[in-house]
Amino acid sequence: MTVTRTFSIIKPDATRRNLTGAVTKMLEDGGLRVVASKRIHMTKAQAEGFYAVHKDRPFFGELVDFMISEPVVVQALEGENAVLRNREIMGATNPAEAAAGTIRKTHALSIGENSVHGSDSDENAAIEIAYFFKDSEIVG
Ligand code: ADP
Ligand code: MG
Repeated sequence: MTVTRTFSIIKPDATRRNLTGAVTKMLEDGGLRVVASKRIHMTKAQAEGFYAVHKDRPFFGELVDFMISEPVVVQALEGENAVLRNREIMGATNPAEAAAGTIRKTHALSIGENSVHGSDSDENAAIEIAYFFKDSEIVG
């Protein structure tokens, strides 16, 4: 059993609809443990830096504007194969393609306003956790 960490964001479409608890429950029920969590309102520079990998995609401006539109909840999650497990619990990027019972199938509004972010690799998880949390804020 390999316990690892991943990084999650509960996005503005979910915080706006008061779904922080509902989403977190789905993560916990799926076997993940919240080891760091805070509600923040991202700055434009923070969102642009976080999503820099997507800067040449046509939806980049829309994505940044969405992510700074309202508060988000950033979380570090721990569990067995946490990155993969979280991606399974989240479901496909486009809620229309997400499997039944996933967060995105249950709660997402569209491919853009899709309720959650999750890291796509262990390497990016470490980078993304460090982008928002100091070591002292993570308590396993
Ligand atoms: P994921 O969040 O599933 O890892 P990506 O990394 O491909 O997906 O995209 C990052 C985020 O950009 C998505 O979660 C979504 O909010 C947004 N996004 C992706 N594709 C589109 C699109 N075609 N139109 C609008 N927004 C998009
Ligand atoms: Mg991604």
